[in-house]
Amino acid sequence: MKIKDVKLLITAVNENQYPSEGVAEIALAGRSNVGKSSLINALINRRNFARTSSQPGKTQTINFYSINEELRLVDLPGYGYAKVSVKEREKWGKMIENYLVNRKSLKEVFLLLDIRHAPGEHDKMMYNWIKSFGYKGIIIATKADKIAKGKWQKHISIIAKELGVEDKNSIVPFSATKKVNVDKVWEIIENILVE
Ligand code: GDP
Repeated sequence: MKIKDVKLLITAVNENQYPSEGVAEIALAGRSNVGKSSLINALINRRNFARTSSQPGKTQTINFYSINEELRLVDLPGYGYAKVSVKEREKWGKMIENYLVNRKSLKEVFLLLDIRHAPGEHDKMMYNWIKSFGYKGIIIATKADKIAKGKWQKHISIIAKELGVEDKNSIVPFSATKKVNVDKVWEIIENILVE
């Protein structure tokens, strides 16, 4: 996709702020700091468009990025902060569930995992959740530049095994820093858009 125009439509704290339906959406899920904002920036080829390094305790929001008014990348609130209260965690769960269940424009969910680490409990829960709502749950293994290329497959096999992913070739090693597989992710997006 040739990127002509990118906008942050809204940083939504609740449902009535979501932009109107009608434009295909792809959501990005994953623990805080996994590299969701960096992936968005790499895809749109901007250095600092999506805010990176979200801070703990920050208001949980769903951020809608519009690309050429033909696609929206939707940054879901990250999980995994130990300090978050039970109340905040519940709010997070309701917000994500509501979006995944009710959003008609949502075509697919990408789950981002750090290539270096085996998936944690929250990652497993998120993956199962995504699947249970009828999405494929495309896994992107981020920060691939942090390990040697020769070790990627070993790490990807661990991720596939832990999550029960049948086709480990569907897991995409990715680096925002080194621009690894940016084109591949775009290809996946384009295929989703024509489905
Ligand atoms: P988010 O909380 O999921 O949006 O994560 P960010 O995109 O803010 O990234 C969290 C941290 O990881 C930042 O310090 C990024 O610079 C770093 N990071 C993100 N992607 C990569 C990557 O591909 N390679 C490396 N080395 N660092 C990355």
